[in-house]
Amino acid sequence: MSKSVYQPGRHFLQIPGPSNVPDRVLRAMAQPVIDHRGPEFPLLANRVQEKLRQVFKTRQPVIIYPASGTGGWESSLLNTLSPGDKVLAFETGHFATLWKNVAVKLGLDVDFVGGDWRHGVDLDAVEAKLKADSGKAIKAVCAVHTETSTGINSDIKGIRKAIDAAGHPALYMVDAVSSLACSDFRFDEWGVDVCVSASQKGLMLPPGLCFNAVSEKALAASKESIAHHSYWRWDEMLANNARGYFPYTPATNLLYGLDEALDMLAEEGLDNVFARHRRFAGATRAALDAWNLENLCLDDTSYSNSTTAVLMPEGHDADALRGIILDTFNMSLGTGLGKVKGKVFRIGHIGDFNDLSLVGTLGGVEMGLALAGVPHKKGGVRAAMDFLEGNEKGKKG
Ligand SMILES: *Cc1c(COP(=O)(O)O)cnc(C)c1O
Repeated sequence: MSKSVYQPGRHFLQIPGPSNVPDRVLRAMAQPVIDHRGPEFPLLANRVQEKLRQVFKTRQPVIIYPASGTGGWESSLLNTLSPGDKVLAFETGHFATLWKNVAVKLGLDVDFVGGDWRHGVDLDAVEAKLKADSGKAIKAVCAVHTETSTGINSDIKGIRKAIDAAGHPALYMVDAVSSLACSDFRFDEWGVDVCVSASQKGLMLPPGLCFNAVSEKALAASKESIAHHSYWRWDEMLANNARGYFPYTPATNLLYGLDEALDMLAEEGLDNVFARHRRFAGATRAALDAWNLENLCLDDTSYSNSTTAVLMPEGHDADALRGIILDTFNMSLGTGLGKVKGKVFRIGHIGDFNDLSLVGTLGGVEMGLALAGVPHKKGGVRAAMDFLEGNEKGKKG
């Protein structure tokens, strides 16, 4: 569709990140830039960091970088490890693969345990791999909480238990980029050492910020690392943060937005935010069942609250369907990434999203399936509405 043709109404941005930015957050960002070395700035920085800790459920520092989530991956590895160190990681999908690729490029020695992209991390494999490492050569275990490419969660608390059951001292690093503020995540209680996250998913902000929550053990490891790097240094960041400042120019206006988004999450209550996402995921699966389309996730204990990946029937291309839906209904759905390119599309139900956004989204999908000639049964939207009616807001979905 040509850019010069006006499309009335709002674009439906139903990809699983970047997610829709609420008007309150957009307005909060439309403030004059202040001097990041002046007296006002520490008030903003300290406030945001205090509120962020509540979302990560930690008393530890949360480092904020002006960068995409990929920067958060790089910083997690550079600060704690040294070239040649052994890392254990699991191929749950595209994002796990990208994080592994960063590790390989940084000179780390990654044991990447294969997966079928239809399940979360296998807890038995975690324990077995670590038990087999009698020399304790593995320095870090990396896992992705919500694998956004597949719509599948891994059991982050369970992985910690498996590490402990093996009696292994490796650092535990978790990517919670698309799970934070969608699924429950508990940095301190679950014994996570580094959590990587970013602004543009459950936190309802534009892209541009990433985070590292860091445990005492991770901070101790960072003192031993001999990796060469500069921009990502936790020690310089934390020394500056202690006075309310940053070692270089922070993304001031994104911090205004973060301040507002964190207030919105607190007003709704984190548990209600999780329940809302869980309910939307349930309603989306009800639509899939009615359409007679298959969920990529094969484990009914591992559905993501943030996104649902839908398998296309044989011989039908997911991106052709997405193209028709974009042109006809002005709605963006998530593309299939990596190994599932063309085979799946993803429905994002993440961030600033309500019942009618979901019904509208599923309506666009159902009409698109018909227009694209994809074999399916009608009634998915009705099934989702029935689910929403039967699982009222505030009740558990
Ligand atoms: C979005 C996302 C990232 C970060 O990607 P960037 O494009 O670098 O912001 C990392 N991990 C997961 C699971 C994600 O969903």
